[in-house]
Amino acid sequence: MLQQLAIGVDLGGTTVKTGLIDSDGKILAQSKLPTLAEENPQAVIGQIVKSIQEVLQHANGRTVAGIGIGSPGLIQNPGGIVKSPPNINNWDVVPLADEISKVFKMRVEVDNDANVAAIAEAKFGAGKDHPNFLFIIWGTGIGGGIIMNNQIYRGLSGGAGEVGHISINYDGLLCNCGTKGCVEAYVGQKHLSKRTIEKLKSNPKSKILELVGGDLEKISPVYISKAAEAGDALANEILVEAGTLLGVMIGGVMNTLDFRVTVIGGGVSAVGDFVYQAIHRSVLSNVQKPLRDGIKIVRAQLGNDAGIFGAAGMVI
Ligand SMILES: [Zn+2]
Repeated sequence: MLQQLAIGVDLGGTTVKTGLIDSDGKILAQSKLPTLAEENPQAVIGQIVKSIQEVLQHANGRTVAGIGIGSPGLIQNPGGIVKSPPNINNWDVVPLADEISKVFKMRVEVDNDANVAAIAEAKFGAGKDHPNFLFIIWGTGIGGGIIMNNQIYRGLSGGAGEVGHISINYDGLLCNCGTKGCVEAYVGQKHLSKRTIEKLKSNPKSKILELVGGDLEKISPVYISKAAEAGDALANEILVEAGTLLGVMIGGVMNTLDFRVTVIGGGVSAVGDFVYQAIHRSVLSNVQKPLRDGIKIVRAQLGNDAGIFGAAGMVI
């Protein structure tokens, strides 16, 4: 089959990362520019256009199938309209897909970060062999995307897959979204680190403190994981509990969708295998019996380039 080319744009609060990609998932050219988020939408769009022009030069006259953009904020599809992205000044409602297709006269698709990362794993990463899976970004918060029959499932207004705000305790911790007991309020990075600091008060000998040189600000799930792997009981307890809680939510989603596979990416996903085993055990005990065979929890594969791959993957 003739190889196709596509452009993927990862619009972040500080940088615009853009890549020219072929359908085998090879990056042929890359560009990285400051977003100029402190200015206004026109300045940001200018940077996106410039970064696309830079990588487009490397197409050497070959046809480019289109441009995909992963953006923060609420995305209205169809239309690729971006509403109130956090960290970009004066951006209320911008028809981003229209603005970019006006300049390049080609197909332009826009979606949110989590959906784009899910598409990246579906086309080029850990989900390649799985037509149906739940994707989770385990980072500061918990984001998600649903891949159904090899396609992203967006729901009625583009909001599907927000699994971080599934409550696992109707009378639990208050989440940023205003609901009680959201799984994000327990296992999102910030909350996990905060709860660890609390527990360290009664466990001053924990290896976690040793690893961060006594600096509580540095505490993160990856350090907690290292401490656990070095035999620290508290660190092990914290992350096994986090995995168990995440598994309760995942089990509910598997029951809802009749899915078997979950792919986990994001900063916290670098934790040790023992956490994945805890998630797996918890999912098994939370799904209906007929679903237990084939339950899989796998690590995402694309890391920092997921944004570019997934954005390009929307048009290739
Ligand atoms: Zn919430």
